[in-house]
Amino acid sequence: MSAIQNNVEAASAEYSASFDKGHLALPPAKKYLVVTCMDARIDPARAFGIELGDAHVIRNAGGSAADALRSIVISQQLLATKEIVLVKHTGCGMLTFEHKDAVAVVKNNLGEKAVTELSEKVPNFLAFPDLDKAVVEDVDYLKKSNLVPEDVAISGWVYDVESGKTRRVV
Ligand SMILES: [Zn+2]
Repeated sequence: MSAIQNNVEAASAEYSASFDKGHLALPPAKKYLVVTCMDARIDPARAFGIELGDAHVIRNAGGSAADALRSIVISQQLLATKEIVLVKHTGCGMLTFEHKDAVAVVKNNLGEKAVTELSEKVPNFLAFPDLDKAVVEDVDYLKKSNLVPEDVAISGWVYDVESGKTRRVV
């Protein structure tokens, strides 16, 4: 086993030894969902005040609303969530490249067949050059979507990876 796999086993033993949340229901108790970045420096539960069982947390590169849409629809239509909190963050990797740059890296590392597959399965890496603007645009994307009901409250935020603070944008 790798060190990472060993870590999972050790953490599981410790976590389950005192685990007492096995009674929680499947639908989130506070009926909301959070979309945020997969960045390893973000601890959504602690930074955004989410207790176990409270909310769905959908993570992807950049905290992209478009990338999260499949999960958002499942969360809202099948599991009754009514509010969306979208959080991007300072120092995001998605601020550092453009789509064509990432395609070039894939081509160089994985070859031509991979690039063809990429164009079918990942037509856009959804990078963004302006953080606050990207938050506004993603909130707008969700508000305009027919897949998100009109009465769903949607807010957009920026988490600061240096201070740990979360600031509302929209
Ligand atoms: Zn990020």
